[in-house]
Amino acid sequence: MKQYHIHTIGCQMNVADSIRIGSALEQTGYTFTDELGEADVVVVNTCSVRQRAEDSAAGKLGQLVSFKRQNRNLLIAMTGCMVPREEAGKAALYKRFPVIDLLFDTLDPQRLVELLPDRIEQPQAGASIKNKIGVTAFVSVIYGCNYTCSYCIVPLRRGQEQSRPVEEIVEEIKGYVRRGVREVTLLGQTVDAYGHDLPTRPDLADLLQAVNEIEGLWRIRFLTSHPKMMSYKMIKAVADLPKVCEYFSLPIQHGDDQILKAMKRPYTVAFYEKLADTIRKTVPNLSISTDIIVGFPGETEQQFLDTYQLLERMKFNEVHVAAYSPRPGTVSAEQMEDNVPIEVKRERLQAVEQIQEKIALEYSRALVGTTQEILVERMEKGRWHGRTRNNKPVFFDNPSLPEYEGFDWHGKLVDVVIEKAGAWSLVGHVAGTPTIIEQTQVETEVCEVEPVAGKRLIPLTMARN
Ligand code: SF4
Repeated sequence: MKQYHIHTIGCQMNVADSIRIGSALEQTGYTFTDELGEADVVVVNTCSVRQRAEDSAAGKLGQLVSFKRQNRNLLIAMTGCMVPREEAGKAALYKRFPVIDLLFDTLDPQRLVELLPDRIEQPQAGASIKNKIGVTAFVSVIYGCNYTCSYCIVPLRRGQEQSRPVEEIVEEIKGYVRRGVREVTLLGQTVDAYGHDLPTRPDLADLLQAVNEIEGLWRIRFLTSHPKMMSYKMIKAVADLPKVCEYFSLPIQHGDDQILKAMKRPYTVAFYEKLADTIRKTVPNLSISTDIIVGFPGETEQQFLDTYQLLERMKFNEVHVAAYSPRPGTVSAEQMEDNVPIEVKRERLQAVEQIQEKIALEYSRALVGTTQEILVERMEKGRWHGRTRNNKPVFFDNPSLPEYEGFDWHGKLVDVVIEKAGAWSLVGHVAGTPTIIEQTQVETEVCEVEPVAGKRLIPLTMARN
């Protein structure tokens, strides 16, 4: 029996793509293996958002050289963000990594299928990549991006937006639900741009409506939204559709209009704040997560302070912060000087992390004593783990009652009373069962932080500039 292996680097979109590619290979009689040494075909699904991700792909290809030496017939293919769109770029990549037999577009696994030796038209019994899917699954619904943020490599590598038809997405999700999936996350670089390129022009709200009707599915999430694409119809869909979770991933990237302009983000801070306000007023019990870049070329202390104050004002539930690093080929790398010193970037990054930890802890503490609905995803370090509808991780133990001994909570929706709050997670007990207060301390329970003196870090960095 022929076997394949997929090594995935990067974000959830790549994870979702690897499952789709694996499913295509399984249609030809191949089965999945976790062992590189057993594989007849190895696919490396790459990411190029950061240099580290590209280095990781290079490392994996280096490792594959010895496997290829032992098995001359081993077929090695690469896909994902590192695969350039133009032929000259592809030729350069073949030259750099002679171990690669095929570069193919993520959207076109057929290119790989056609090269498979001994393929048959029948799926075979055996390991499937879909067995790796648990209670939650990621589903890519729109690829590429039509924006041109000056720091971002995605449009160069992934091209223009391409949406998948609603019916195709619904069928894929129905297949996951048959395997026990209860929550899906619809993915796109600009997920709220979904559908504009399809003949009937459905939008994200229409897609959410269609997915909401799938029997056996309990929760729906979507990310990442672009502030300029979000419509009131979509916001209302989140408020009205019972399965859609109250969670928006809405990157602002910076708190200063001039930097936003240099980033080619086509909105102002005021526009963003108004949008977030509308979302908060329309969707009850909402969480908003955002992305922030610190140390963008030319970022002054005052401009960083604008971001810092934005965070204090907006009180996001989650913030993903990164220090700017230039990606070759992007406008900011080619035309702007990376002139914020690394130690200043680190300080600013730390300041954002600290203020956010304080805000997250405030949100968590407000949940102590409340009952939260958790979808249980897995056992982690001896405790059951799941998330609230608005994405806060929660841990709980099996209740110490005879009827719960060895009880399997996996894939269940359970009401948990929150007892302890950390910045990034909560601990509680199943409603109607004994509390856990007397139990031993756990790693996840406490994340106390000293309140960050908002201005403390600022003069430090000011002294430097
Ligand atoms: S919208 Fe997102 S994916 Fe598109 S260019 Fe900007 S940062 Fe990159």
